[in-house]
Amino acid sequence: MDPNGMNHYLEAANRAFQWHREYKTKMKECRFDTIATHGIYSMQEALDFNQGSIIEPAYLSSSQTYRDSDEMEAALGYQIPTWCYSRIANPTMYYLEGVLALLDGYGSDVETSCIATASGMAAIQSAVDPFLVTDPKNPHAPMNFVATAQVYGGTYQQFSMRKDLERSVEWRKVVHSTDLSEWESLIDENTRFLYGEMPSNPGLAFFDLARVAELAHKYGIPLIIDSTVATPALLRPIEHGADIVVQSVTKSLATSGFGISGAIISRKNLVSKINNPEMKADFATYLKLLPNRDNGPNISPLNAVLAINDIRTIRMRMDQMSRSTMKVAEYLSSHKHVEKVEYLGLKDHPLHELASKYMYLVDAEYDKQYGKPVNRYGHLMSFLVKGDAKQTRDVFDAFTRIWRATDLGRIKSVATIPAISTHSQQGPEGRRLAGIPSNLIRLCVGVEHPDDIINDIDQAIGVLDGKKVKVTAPEYSAGGASSARLRNIY
Ligand SMILES: *Cc1c(COP(=O)(O)O)cnc(C)c1O
Repeated sequence: MDPNGMNHYLEAANRAFQWHREYKTKMKECRFDTIATHGIYSMQEALDFNQGSIIEPAYLSSSQTYRDSDEMEAALGYQIPTWCYSRIANPTMYYLEGVLALLDGYGSDVETSCIATASGMAAIQSAVDPFLVTDPKNPHAPMNFVATAQVYGGTYQQFSMRKDLERSVEWRKVVHSTDLSEWESLIDENTRFLYGEMPSNPGLAFFDLARVAELAHKYGIPLIIDSTVATPALLRPIEHGADIVVQSVTKSLATSGFGISGAIISRKNLVSKINNPEMKADFATYLKLLPNRDNGPNISPLNAVLAINDIRTIRMRMDQMSRSTMKVAEYLSSHKHVEKVEYLGLKDHPLHELASKYMYLVDAEYDKQYGKPVNRYGHLMSFLVKGDAKQTRDVFDAFTRIWRATDLGRIKSVATIPAISTHSQQGPEGRRLAGIPSNLIRLCVGVEHPDDIINDIDQAIGVLDGKKVKVTAPEYSAGGASSARLRNIY
């Protein structure tokens, strides 16, 4: 043991905390693209610790070694910067968390922090569970939360099955999320948080974020927003009053499609009636050090480094993909075989005006090409085929350039029929609430030239004029998951 004990480790830790804080403050003065590109990985860090590597290194290691027992004790007491064990922390995760905290906090003076998870669903579970704890003063009190009915299919399952059915935590569904009085009528003293997805996947529901945040705070509870579809390049909910943002990083943030990942970005000092000062002071860090340490849903460093690399170009991609989607949406709007097009960018969409209040391409005013704020609405849209479920499937089956996949946010255009895929498990009633008819095709436009996407849709819709679809015979590898029994449990 060192005669100084832990002290020289604690002093070194203070120096490190200080220069990291200073570096983050400096990064905050940069524009969005610079932050997205550099994140919190500095030249100093590269030269001092990473052999000068200009790209954030992937620390593919389960754990960290210590110089002696004093250092180990200080580390495991969370008194010095440490990553001890990759279930809890790891330098590569830290770089991802650092950049996402800055991007979702961009443009506001709110201090943010982030924790990255293995998936968007793990992010949602990690974000909501700390609010669904029993009150020691009233352990038998019922619990509820108020959340929009129009949510991603996986979220619908998590809320309805894992919370409402299995744990008796009541999900009070907001069906018309633009109606503030509906939100308010569902809140009572047992409501733990408000939750909304905007724009929602795939229904593109949208609500007045700032007013819902005010409502949450009026009742002393936090507002959690799933902002996956917008990404911080188009919308940063914390700036408008949200307490916590969840992102499926899998989607547009990490558009290459190399893996699954998620994140939670929270404001410091959030609002909650739960008596847990540490949680409220810094929610993401609390999650990292305590509940997620114990539950283990965090991201792997390999997926983290892949996400970091994609995030650098998020602003330019969201701009280009939004513009292409607009072009495709306009084309489909006047197509004789299309009943309806749903895209927030279209002037006749009922939520166009509201979305235009919130969805802007970040920093467009500093961009030579634009020189002023410009609205961008993302690359998720849907269209309803003028026909039944079978004809809709025929159109879908005829795509040759657009990939049929239950995915979105990809660099390549992908499409799905939500009624038979992402939203099949919630049944007809759940789909009716979420506004998902069986002739709806969800399309997420990639970075291909939009003319080629339009041509592909055009030839596919040709099946409604009698064009034949070619069906190929399948061969399966045994590697996939399949269980008829499990599907029917509920
Ligand atoms: C995909 C998605 C999720 C879930 O994210 P995973 O990374 O697939 O777990 C959550 N919310 C929205 C809006 C999504 O599109």
